[in-house]
Amino acid sequence: MSALEVSYECCTEIPRMEFVCYLWFSFFKYMILHAHLNGSEKGTHYALDLGGTNFRVLRVHLGGRRSSILGHDVERQPIPQELMTSTSEDLFDFIASALKEFVEKEGDGSETSLDRRRDLGFTFSFPVKQMSVSSGILIKWTKGFAIVDMVGKEVAGCLEQALTRKGLNMQVAALVNDTVGTLALGHYHDEDTVAAVLIGTGTNACYLERTDAIIKCQGLLTTTGCMVVNMEWGNFWTSHLPRTTYDIDLDADSPNPNDQGFEKMISGMYLGDIVRRVILRMAQETDIFGPVSSKLSVPFILRTPLMAAMHEDDSPDLQEVGRILRDVLEIPDVPLKVRKLVVKVCDVVTRRAARLAAAGIAGILKKIGRDGSGGLTGGRRSDNKMRRTVVAIEGGLYTSYTMFREYLHEALIEILGEEVAQHVVLKVTEDGSGIGAALLAASHSSQSVDRVQSL
Ligand code: ADP
Ligand code: MG
Repeated sequence: MSALEVSYECCTEIPRMEFVCYLWFSFFKYMILHAHLNGSEKGTHYALDLGGTNFRVLRVHLGGRRSSILGHDVERQPIPQELMTSTSEDLFDFIASALKEFVEKEGDGSETSLDRRRDLGFTFSFPVKQMSVSSGILIKWTKGFAIVDMVGKEVAGCLEQALTRKGLNMQVAALVNDTVGTLALGHYHDEDTVAAVLIGTGTNACYLERTDAIIKCQGLLTTTGCMVVNMEWGNFWTSHLPRTTYDIDLDADSPNPNDQGFEKMISGMYLGDIVRRVILRMAQETDIFGPVSSKLSVPFILRTPLMAAMHEDDSPDLQEVGRILRDVLEIPDVPLKVRKLVVKVCDVVTRRAARLAAAGIAGILKKIGRDGSGGLTGGRRSDNKMRRTVVAIEGGLYTSYTMFREYLHEALIEILGEEVAQHVVLKVTEDGSGIGAALLAASHSSQSVDRVQSL
């Protein structure tokens, strides 16, 4: 059993202590995919990206040379709340309708777009037992989804049935999660990309591992000698991870208690709600917010983008903080001193999250020997031998929340040291999770995917 270890001081006011993370690779959960894009993929390809707040349909035009994505179109729409707890048929019919509308808009002139059988990339970012490159069974829901009839079902098959119901002539050629899609795109553009990290509604990571370093793959021959390990790090847990009463209560009230512990401290779905819980307790135990507003007891009323807007309010009298407290939480007339305190709470919660995510990234680098612990140069002085290391990164929390991003960078430098950190590039790959799935679908239909192992 492989384990990776990150020693890291969790610098947070609630509470300060040192811990060690062990990111376990448990057997059944990790999809291990060996897909090698050779750059010859061509034509127009479609993908669907489902995995959190927003759902995306994408069309990617490939030019047939390495790194030649001629263009792409994306349409985003939020998943209606009621579909997250409805039936698999309702959810997939909604997705299939959106895709149909999108395909109908292609209008390539030569033929009716719907007549041609097409391969589809499907990014489905929930824990899946991968059965082949194009199929997998849903192990469990995360991020607020709870469609009971879907658990244990084959995901691509459910989508294909809905596509057929809507009259779409398409088949899933690649089923991946957002991290694998992002890594595929990152690697397509830049061969130094060794890992992909997603920090949006939820969080997860994957990385390239030498096949011979994976116990379950020993003896397996692959052309590149590498495989992608999907870590499902959102479910990482250790008793060394300091949890507050807010974390414990949030977990207990969630649809998936005792699950996704790391994700619940880091990702966009939860940060705003941690802040709401802290403010609620402050309101109950002191009179600084006046009478306790009933809105403070409404789960998820304070969304993370609102929390970010309060945190990043740079007006001298914190007008935005005052507005959100008044309009969203129905707490009027909060004095400036107390508004400053609210900003501090947002800061503490975000900083902790960003530092935990940085610890996870450092953990991956350590596991693959890119953290400089073997010496920058293998014993020699000059540091120009430390290999450039690119981590593809995606997700609304990282891309849209400046303070989160800055704290993450700061912590990564702190953990790795400045000298090593200058060789590590965090590269944003916008819509990478979906575009990467389209690439993998294209690659698979052109027979260039070598093999997939489901372990
Ligand atoms: P998903 O994870 O659903 O695929 P995204 O990667 O777009 O989607 O991330 C969306 C999440 O990012 C939202 O749920 C929210 O928590 C977070 N987010 C989006 N915009 C902001 C913002 N301005 N500030 C802070 N967090 C944000
Ligand atoms: Mg996503």
